[in-house]
Amino acid sequence: MVWAGRELTNFAYVVIDAGVGAGIIVDGHLFVSGADLNPEFGHTSVQSDGPYCACGGRGCLELYTAMPRLIQHIVEELRRGRASSLAPLVMASLGNYNRRGPAAPGL
Ligand SMILES: [Zn+2]
Repeated sequence: MVWAGRELTNFAYVVIDAGVGAGIIVDGHLFVSGADLNPEFGHTSVQSDGPYCACGGRGCLELYTAMPRLIQHIVEELRRGRASSLAPLVMASLGNYNRRGPAAPGL
């Protein structure tokens, strides 16, 4: 992984891919807290009455932001006839996600 903040010792990062992950680095070490910080960042509920997640929760962040969901949303909009310069990229990504991980529902 290449990133611009190598010299930083205090920072937080968020990774969005098939899921959503996050970490906090404090004084150069991974911060691990008690019960106050949800270690499954992508499963933080952002909409309490949202759709159910595979984790058993509702409205988890990754239901709205993980790549399969983003791709699904773009595909739905393309099928509705909305033009987008993302179309070729999304169609190529569909093949990648279907081969390596769970595809977004309905794809
Ligand atoms: Zn969840």
